[in-house]
Amino acid sequence: MAQLARPCIIFALSMPKFFIRTYGCQMNERDSEQVAHSLMARGYERVAKEAEADVVLLNTCSVRDMADQKALGKMGMLGRVAKERPNVVFGFLGCMAQAQGESLLKNLPHLDLVVGTQKFHRVADYVEELVAKKNARARQCESGWGPGAPPSPAMDDPRFSIVDIAEEPGSQETIREQQLTPRQATAFVSIMQGCNMHCTFCIVPQTRGPERSRSIDEVVREVRDLVARGVKEVTLLGQIVNLYGRHGIPKIDNKSPFVQLLEAVHQIDGLERLRFTSPHPIGFRDDLINAIARLPKLAEHVHVPLQSGSNKILKSMHRAYTAEKYVDLVHRIRQVRKGIAITTDIIVGFPGETESDYKLTRDLVEQIQFDNAFVFRYSPRRETPAAEMQEQVEEPVKAERNQDLLRVVNESARRAGERLVGRDVEVLCEGRSKTNPARLMGRTRTNKIVVFEGDEILAGEILEVRIQQANGFSLYGTPVLPTSCAAINDRA
Ligand code: SF4
Repeated sequence: MAQLARPCIIFALSMPKFFIRTYGCQMNERDSEQVAHSLMARGYERVAKEAEADVVLLNTCSVRDMADQKALGKMGMLGRVAKERPNVVFGFLGCMAQAQGESLLKNLPHLDLVVGTQKFHRVADYVEELVAKKNARARQCESGWGPGAPPSPAMDDPRFSIVDIAEEPGSQETIREQQLTPRQATAFVSIMQGCNMHCTFCIVPQTRGPERSRSIDEVVREVRDLVARGVKEVTLLGQIVNLYGRHGIPKIDNKSPFVQLLEAVHQIDGLERLRFTSPHPIGFRDDLINAIARLPKLAEHVHVPLQSGSNKILKSMHRAYTAEKYVDLVHRIRQVRKGIAITTDIIVGFPGETESDYKLTRDLVEQIQFDNAFVFRYSPRRETPAAEMQEQVEEPVKAERNQDLLRVVNESARRAGERLVGRDVEVLCEGRSKTNPARLMGRTRTNKIVVFEGDEILAGEILEVRIQQANGFSLYGTPVLPTSCAAINDRA
């Protein structure tokens, strides 16, 4: 009953405000948008600052220890807010919530809600329940329930915590709605959940469960709705997106379910660009290479996780390809689609990685000349086979390899950017640049960020931009005034 000594604050009569922060990948971004949509559908207002919110949700990532620590640190700091405003609801959602469950409540006395990866669609119900209970407590507190008062029904559970990390069949079908901001031109669409690959370093099969795919019809319906609301570019999401549907949807004419889905989405009138992430190299069979060659809406960019250039390490990671097969795959993709950008993920310092294994990775990265790469230091995740492996690599060695490889990647990314200087490229304008709101930003078909001057009226439009400068990972240019400029003004 110690909590009764806290200040009594009842939410204002207006609907509560919520804040949601996302850690990690685009799948998490998409899940957060689903949660935001479900709260807004009930009248909740989204705010950009946690200090203004009555409900604070952190959608977490568990892929690396640092991601766990960031979310835990943030929630720990929010304890101060909880002391001043005890009615605020605090929740952890997503991968870390799934992996750690109830144990998260132990050191965070203000934490009210822990919801795993198969229960995002229940978040709004749980939030509503917690808000109602906290308000009831505050009302009782104001009307005389105080220290020494007899127990109150609403105070049977003074902590009000809810934990739901159960599996739920069909949960992959529940990530299907999203709010769009005015003139929003790009959107993510989740087509599957989970992964059965069990790479030895990865916690995803534990946090996201086994592979479950949505139906082709459901995905097409969602994309059609987004396009009708103004979206021009869609990115299909899945942990192993190109292995979509392999356990439930039959091949037709030797085409995998993923290629069937690409074709179906490609037919939607008004959709201008189609992307997908993140694929697995083993899912690039001839039918997909062929689709890259013949479906013009597929943007000229693929992200193909390499992880290591050493066959010994790839085997130990349980990645079912060799460095030679990977190089051949890149060659085939580049052959069928001229100018296509290729990006990747690489882990350095995996257990057993010797200097010569690392050198193989470095040489391969030099050879391929990626447009960009995410380089990660291996981070042991509990209950994964790699965490138990002998020959863990020392942190300073990992750090050194990380820095060294980043230099190689930065160099090839710089070259890829410089090749575009002086050229006119197609850019889909996404709105104001986050780093410099005086300018606009958009992406090329090869997924490069372009910053340029212009009126916000261009948000959501596809235009030609003449690239004048390449700087780090961004390009800078000037729109080549489209003949349709007047038409854009007319539409606005
Ligand atoms: S393919 Fe491997 S790295 Fe990717 S999500 Fe599945 S287990 Fe993790």
